Amino acid sequence: MGFFDSFVEGFNSAKKTRENREIIEMYHDLHDYDTDYRKKAFDNTDSNNGWYTCPRCGKKFRKKQMHVDHIVPQSKGGDNSRYNLQVMCPHCNCSKRDSMADTERDLVRRRQELKRQDEEDLEFLNSISRKRR
Ligand SMILES: [Zn+2]
Repeated sequence: MGFFDSFVEGFNSAKKTRENREIIEMYHDLHDYDTDYRKKAFDNTDSNNGWYTCPRCGKKFRKKQMHVDHIVPQSKGGDNSRYNLQVMCPHCNCSKRDSMADTERDLVRRRQELKRQDEEDLEFLNSISRKRR
């Protein structure tokens, strides 16, 4: 095996390791293994270079400023699944308290967001499995 071949092999195995890690992370997300709901909420929310958009007021904030909101409040039986979590700015989250006035709209929006992300994940998995065949 020449230099170039071993270079390519090293590159491919590094790439495969990264892909395997992404697959495992994706698997854990799907099965809600991660009990850290703040991390889970951010892992499952799109950001624009670290800027998150509040779904209520539309303003953009840095991750550390954002709160994680339970769409169905925990006091009303809401759980820590990714379907029930959304990132929200402190102002909107504090004014929401445990009101359920916008719960239905928030659940629909969250479900659409996760569905789109799942489709992107599936696309990624398909592209890997095509390459490995
Ligand atoms: Zn807001």
